[in-house]
Amino acid sequence: RGDADAPPEIAVIEGDGIGREVVPAAVEVLEAVGDYAFAEAEAGDATLDETGEALPAETYDLAASADATLFGAAGESAADVILPLREAVGSFVNVRPARAYLGVDALRPETDLVFLRENTEGVYAGHEDRLTDNVSTLTRVVTESASRRLGEFACEYVAERGHDGFTVAHKANVMRETDGLFRDTVLAEAERRGVDADTVLMDAFATRVCLDPEQFGVVVCPNLAGDVLSDLAAGLVGGLGLLPSANVGEERGLFEPVHGTAPDIAGKGVANPSATILSAAMLVESLGDDDAGARIRSAVEGVLSDGPRTPDLGGEATTREVTDAVLARL
Ligand code: ATP
Ligand code: MG
Repeated sequence: RGDADAPPEIAVIEGDGIGREVVPAAVEVLEAVGDYAFAEAEAGDATLDETGEALPAETYDLAASADATLFGAAGESAADVILPLREAVGSFVNVRPARAYLGVDALRPETDLVFLRENTEGVYAGHEDRLTDNVSTLTRVVTESASRRLGEFACEYVAERGHDGFTVAHKANVMRETDGLFRDTVLAEAERRGVDADTVLMDAFATRVCLDPEQFGVVVCPNLAGDVLSDLAAGLVGGLGLLPSANVGEERGLFEPVHGTAPDIAGKGVANPSATILSAAMLVESLGDDDAGARIRSAVEGVLSDGPRTPDLGGEATTREVTDAVLARL
């Protein structure tokens, strides 16, 4: 942007359901750690009802031009909102860390995983057809270029963060063409760069990660597998309220909790804001402010370990109380 001294612009899209509760909490946290210019925009089911469009052009354009976007969740219209928004920021990978926190009851407290989910193609690209009244089809596209870009990112990610290497989850024994191309391209990139990489069948991964998550670290997945397996990992660490994500592009990113609109608790003021606040930590890191990211993370970790806690983590606190506790620690 023109003025080098101007604060970074952050697009803020609350969306629907608990997005309207957890995104404002994360914005308060961002205000506490840095100087940012916020620009709010609408998207989701309520926007569709009001304007006839789930994702107005102004919202798309804002995400495409802002330095970073913080997004909550969209309900029924999710596919019409989040898929184009990921494209607006040019995202090719969705980074989803799933780790257990001290003090939080977790099925597998030793879990410390990062999913690198392909973000542009696979079955999520949505080439669906209804051939006849009772036959539907889906065309799945996998390209060498997208697989290679993900492989490059995975190699850089593990090198920058000191991981030993990564694991590619796939089902190339059945989907020989598509998952075969995906697996082979990612592995070739690792070999070219001298990064250790191994592979696992995604169904076997689902079992093995539940029994012994410590054998895995960074897991590179096709689009749908990354979605499903990261939700599974949320179950190992204490729930969806804890998992942040970053949709990373070359120039900018979009940051959102892994969870959705949580209609069962929406409007009650008890949603766990941790996932979205941790997404905000990833956002400031993408702007180069690693220090602010570390401060946010440590404040959230402190609150998770000493409380207060929202009901999903066995407590009775509200979103407001948890947010205030994070702000107090900051
Ligand atoms: P959507 O279609 O928007 O994804 P969903 O019904 O799948 O809606 P999710 O948001 O994915 O709902 O949540 C699944 C479950 O996890 C729900 O029971 C929800 O209450 C719980 N949950 C998700 N996020 C949170 C959160 N931030 N705090 C507390 N509970 C949460
Ligand atoms: Mg869901």
